[in-house]
Amino acid sequence: MEKHELWQAALAKIEMDLSRPSFLTWFQDTGIMETDGGVATVFVPNNFAKEWLQNKYHKSILHALREISSDIKEINYVIAKTENVKKQAFSKDSVLKKKKISTISASGLDDPSVMKDLIVDPETNLNPRYTFDNFVVGSFNELAYAAAQSIIKNLGTSYNPLFIYGGVGLGKTHLIQAIGNEVLKNNNSLKVRYVPSEKFMGEIVDALRNQEMGKLREKYRTIDLLIMDDVQFIARTEKMQEEFFHTFNSLYEKNKQIIISSDRPPQSIATLEERLKSRFQGGMIADVGLPDFETRLLILKTKIGNKNISIPEEVLIFISESTKTNIRELEGNLNRVIMASNLSNTPINIDVAKKIISTNQNDSKKFISVKKILKCVSEFYDIEEKEFLNRSRKKDVVKPRQIAMYLMREELKISFPSIGERFGGRDHTTAIHSCEKIGQELKINSELEEEIRAIKDKIFSC
Ligand code: ADP
Ligand code: MG
Repeated sequence: MEKHELWQAALAKIEMDLSRPSFLTWFQDTGIMETDGGVATVFVPNNFAKEWLQNKYHKSILHALREISSDIKEINYVIAKTENVKKQAFSKDSVLKKKKISTISASGLDDPSVMKDLIVDPETNLNPRYTFDNFVVGSFNELAYAAAQSIIKNLGTSYNPLFIYGGVGLGKTHLIQAIGNEVLKNNNSLKVRYVPSEKFMGEIVDALRNQEMGKLREKYRTIDLLIMDDVQFIARTEKMQEEFFHTFNSLYEKNKQIIISSDRPPQSIATLEERLKSRFQGGMIADVGLPDFETRLLILKTKIGNKNISIPEEVLIFISESTKTNIRELEGNLNRVIMASNLSNTPINIDVAKKIISTNQNDSKKFISVKKILKCVSEFYDIEEKEFLNRSRKKDVVKPRQIAMYLMREELKISFPSIGERFGGRDHTTAIHSCEKIGQELKINSELEEEIRAIKDKIFSC
C-alpha cells in the first residue's frame, strides 16, 4: 500500500474517535513521509501539533496504523512543511468540501433550517438559526434564560462571566448563540464573537504556524461579547488555558461581556487551572437541566410550527414520552418519523412512530461497551487507562476506577467477579464495594451526579 493510502486509511479510523473540530485541528497538513524497518515517519506542520499528537493521540495513531499494516511498530514524528511533501498530505479543504456535500445530502428532509445551518457569518461565527423566537423556556432552563436576558440588557455589567453548564443536547449552544444574535439585533456596531473552544485552539495553532499570534490576540481583545462554547476542551492543554486566561482578563478588565458554556460546572473540570476556575466562579453560574414532559411536547410543537405538516397529537405525545434526556434527540426522532412517512408516502401515524423510535433506541444501547466506559472515564479524569489496572490508591485514580466499575455494573449489568477481573484481577468484593460506594455517594453528592451524567453523555455520544 502506498504511504498516502496508508495514511488516509489510518485517518479514517482515527477520525471516528474524535470530534470533527479536533480532527481538523490536529490532523490537517499531516502525512506519512516514509515507512522503514517498522518505523512510520509521520510529518506534522509544527512543534505544537507534534507534541499534541505524541502526547494525546499517539496510541490511537499507532493502533490505527497497525490495524492496516501490522509491520509498523513505532512512529517517529517530524516537523515538515506540506509544500515539501505535498502529495501525501491530508488537507483540511478536501475534507471540508466532502463534509459540506454530505451534510446536504444526508439531511434528506426538505427543511430550510438545514440549509440555514450552513450560513454562518464568518466574523461573528453566529448561526442565525439560533434565536429566542424558537427557544422554549421551562423550569429546566429558566435560570440560564433569565441570566441571558439580564446580560442582553446590561452587557458587561450584570453577570460577568456567565457560565452555563448542562448535558449534551439540552440547548446550551442554542441559548448562548441566541444571546449573540439578540445583542447584534439591538446594536449591530458591537463586536460579537462566538467560538467553540476547539475552534479557538485551531486558531491558535494556525496563528503559531503563520507567526500571527499578535494579530490573533488583538482580534480577541477588541471584542465586546465573547462567547466560548464547550470550554471543557481547553482544559486539555496549558497553552490554551494560558491564552484564554489572558484574553479573559483583558476583556474582563474592560467590562466586556464573556459567556462560557461547558458540559459540567467549573469545579468538575479536572484539569482546569485554579486561576481559571476561580475566574469562572466569580460570575454567574447557571445550569440547564432536563425538560419535563410538557416542555418536551411544547418543544416539538414549536419545531413543527414552521413546517407545513400535520402530525397527530398522539404521535407527538409518544415522541415526548420516549425521548427524555436530550432535545437534539427529541428533534431527531421527530424528523425521523416525518422522513419515514415521506419515504413510504403514508400519513404520519403512531405505528410508524413506534417502529422508528424503538429501533433507534436499541441502536444507541448496543454501542456501549466496556472499552468505551474505560476510555470515556479515563479521558474525563485525564488519567491513563492502564492506571485502572494497577494497585494505586491515589485518590485521583481510586475515584475514576470506582466510577468505571459502577458504570459497568449499571449500564452493562456485568457480574461483580467479572468486573474485578477486568480491573487487574481484583476480587469481586472490591467491585461490590466500589459500586455500592458510588451508589451511596450519588444520593448525597450532586457534583458527582453531574460528573457521572457528563461521562454517560460521552459514552452514549461517542
Ligand atoms: P447543547 O449545546 O447543550 O449540546 P444545543 O444547543 O446544540 O445543545 O441543542 C440541541 C438541539 O436542540 C438544537 O437543535 C436546538 O435548537 C434544540 N434546542 C435545545 N434547547 C431548546 C429549547 N429550549 N427550545 C427549542 N429548541 C431547543
Ligand atoms: Mg453545544
